[in-house]
Parts: sequence; C-alpha cells; structure tokens
Amino acid sequence: METHFYEVLTGVGFVVAALVFVTLFLVSAPYGRHTRRGWGPTVNETPGWVLMELPAVITIAVCFVWGHGLAWSPVWIFLILWEIHYVHRTFIFPFRLRRPGRKTPILIVLFAILFNVFNGYMNGRYLGLHAGEYTLDWFTDPRFVAGAGLFFSGMAINLHADQVLFKLRQNGGAEYGIPQGGLYRWISCPNYFGELLEWMGWALATWCLPGLLFAVWTAANLVPRAITHHRWYRERFAEYPAERKAIVPFVW
Ligand code: NDP
Repeated sequence: METHFYEVLTGVGFVVAALVFVTLFLVSAPYGRHTRRGWGPTVNETPGWVLMELPAVITIAVCFVWGHGLAWSPVWIFLILWEIHYVHRTFIFPFRLRRPGRKTPILIVLFAILFNVFNGYMNGRYLGLHAGEYTLDWFTDPRFVAGAGLFFSGMAINLHADQVLFKLRQNGGAEYGIPQGGLYRWISCPNYFGELLEWMGWALATWCLPGLLFAVWTAANLVPRAITHHRWYRERFAEYPAERKAIVPFVW
C-alpha cells in the first residue's frame, strides 16, 4: 500500500517539478530582491528560513530510522552528506543574512515546508527502506566517487558565492552591488550553480530515483530564478559585465 503511494508520489513529483519550472519563468518567487506586495502576511526572514529548512533536517532522519532503524549500513553516508548541507542551511546560513527587518511571505515558507517534508519523505524512505543493495564496494564505484566529488565541489562553490554576497553588505546597509571573484567572473548566480551541482552529485552518488527527483526540483527552482536575477542585474547596473551568463558558465 505505502509502496504504491510512494511510486505514485514519485511520478507526481516529476510532473509538478515541470510545472514549477515553467511557472517560475512567468512569476518570480516573491522573496529576497523579488519581494513585492500582494502575497499575504509575512514573517521575518531569519526565522522564516529556519522554519522552512528544519523539515529537511528532520523528515529524512525520521523516515530513515523508521526503515532499517539505527543499524549501521553504507547508506548512512548519504544521510550524513544531506545533513551536512541542511544543518548549515537551517542553523547557520539564516543567521548570516544581512538585511535586518526583511520579510518573507508566509506562503513561501509554507510551500518550502511542504516541499521539504515531501523531499525528506521520498529520500528518507528510500534510504531507510527501499535501498538495500549498497555494499562497501559502492564507495569505490565511479558513480559514488564522481557524485561525492560533485557534491563537495558544489558545496564549496555555493558557500563561497554566498560569502561574497554577504561581504557586499558588510557596512550593514541593504544595498546591492555587483559581486566579483570566483565563479562570478562567468555567471550571476554561482550560489545556485553550486547548489545544483551538490544535488546532482548526491543523485549520482546514491544512484536513485528520489535523488534524481530532488536534483530536477532544484533545477526547476533555481534555473528560472537565476535567469530572473541575471535580468535584474543587467537592468539595474549599466556597467554589468556583458560576458556573464546567468547560471551555467559560457552557456546559459
Ligand atoms: P540570493 O542570491 O538571492 O540571496 C542570498 C543573500 O545575499 C540574500 O541575503 C540577498 O539579499 C543577498 N544578496 C544577493 N545578491 C546581492 C547583491 N548583489 N548585493 C548584496 N547582497 C546580495 O539567494 P537566495 O536567497 O535565493 O538563496 C539563498 C541560498 O539558498 C543559496 O545558497 C541557494 O542556493 C539556496 N537555495 C536553495 C534552493 C533549492 O531549491 N535547493 C531554493 C532557494 C535557495 P536580499 O534578500 O536583500 O536580496
């Protein structure tokens, strides 16, 4: 019964990701620089981020333990990679944001919670129940090695890119500048590019469908947003570097 529900949810997940991808080209998600009126009540940005991301930390862990329990297995490594990312995103990143008083629509928070519960369930249930075939040999398999390499490279790019943005606000103001250095030389949103590499890497390292679904969702969210950011930079700064692309160096 639950297995059938899980399979249906996987299919639905891919379809909804495609719809989200198209929709976000038409309507930018109203948070950060694209915040605007008309999206209902709001919440302060920092607690909003914590609330949004906390289900990603908890749901996967609960679903994982609900499966095979706490017994050691190689799939623990996948859970650890996931938690490294999400513990940072939930408990460190929101406290480094530099725009006091910035509000986020509660609607965005609710959507993010819904997605993180869904995603945590899909991947946690996979790791705890459906994934039975990993052995220690998997850690020398090229898919794991390349996937883990991609995951950590993406994380380094993402952290560096966000750090550059935080530094632009060192004086405590709310102004925007033109970020420089690292991959900003080639793209407007290396933080999104890094995030995308991370989850593509996780999908490759785990070689599973819910991992792929998460990578597809990340692209559906971040590619349109990067294009919107890129257009915004070009409109706002006459001197914006012409050779910069939005999210994929030299391509897009
Ligand atoms: P943004 O790049 O829009 O903003 C990140 C922070 O930097 C914000 O505080 C923003 O301020 C500030 N900032 C951005 N550009 C500038 C600039 N030019 N000058 C000064 N300050 C700037 O990222 P998001 O807020 O969309 O995302 C934050 C993190 O969360 C990223 O690492 C992203 O990868 C991740 N994320 C992951 C998603 C997923 O699907 N896995 C979905 C969304 C985000 P302000 O708020 O005032 O614009």
